[in-house]
Amino acid sequence: KGNQHRRVAYYDNELRENILHEQELINDFQQAIKEEQLQIYLHPQMNVHGKMLGAEALVRWIHPTEGFIPPNRFIPIFEKNGFILKLDDYMLEEIARVQAGWLAEGRELVPISVNVSRAHFTREDLAEHICEIVDKYKVPHEVIELELTESAFFDDKKVLLNTVKKLRDSGFPVSMDDFGAGYSSLNSLKELTIDVLKIDADFFRGSDSLERGMLIVTEVISLAKKLNMKIVAEGIESREQVEFLTAQECDLIQGYFYAKPMPVAEFAEKYNV
Ligand code: C2E
Ligand code: MG
Ligand code: MG
Repeated sequence: KGNQHRRVAYYDNELRENILHEQELINDFQQAIKEEQLQIYLHPQMNVHGKMLGAEALVRWIHPTEGFIPPNRFIPIFEKNGFILKLDDYMLEEIARVQAGWLAEGRELVPISVNVSRAHFTREDLAEHICEIVDKYKVPHEVIELELTESAFFDDKKVLLNTVKKLRDSGFPVSMDDFGAGYSSLNSLKELTIDVLKIDADFFRGSDSLERGMLIVTEVISLAKKLNMKIVAEGIESREQVEFLTAQECDLIQGYFYAKPMPVAEFAEKYNV
């Protein structure tokens, strides 16, 4: 199951444990939402001078018995069984609530992005649905950015194009996450008008192919600028990378070099938003 290249799988204890564990996480999810075990971490995005200009909302699950569970352990499961729809809605609503709170306190808002999994793009009223959630909190749409992955392009293209257009028309910035990690990057840029391009961290990894990666990043940044898009480089960990991106006039940097994702309260205090 889940492996298209092999016809035979041997059932063993590890497989059994994995299935049981997945099932447990599925069983625990509703409770997790109700009991606020899902926490929002914010990962700041800085310009090359180190000024914080935005953030991405990332989910963390603080499980009562398992402790801290990183998203890579449960998002793929919830993408399979559909719970991702509830989880993303929850994150969107919480971010709208946070922004509304900061607005009421007279703080200056920066855009915060939330991830919108590809599973959402089957519903034709997705844009209306998102508006409805955000408008409950009367937050200006400009400060809620929606991140989609290239893989959303493989599903119903018409729904995707329509939804992105409707969202942008009503003022939400839209970004493409993990650009370059999928298959049809350039083609998707041709058909979609979006505001922000997030360059995948993989370009900055590896030693043998690093130089080629940098060449590609240089050209991608130049292309994105011609298409009037803002560029965010993800997974930036070293000063050399920041210097390189400064020379390329990259707009924003999201990476451990500046900070790791942190709880909302810590973010508010640290950056005085
Ligand atoms: P993503 O949306 O591409 O988020 C960026 C991931 O890269 C985050 O991992 C972030 O902590 C990590 N990262 C950023 N800079 C660095 C760096 O310099 N070094 C290293 N080693 N890592 C860095 P995280 O939080 O574990 O999230 C992983 C993925 O889980 C996300 O990738 C996203 O696809 C998914 N995810 C997280 N929260 C949500 C959510 O609320 N909804 C959906 N649909 N997916 C989510
Ligand atoms: Mg993302
Ligand atoms: Mg990403």
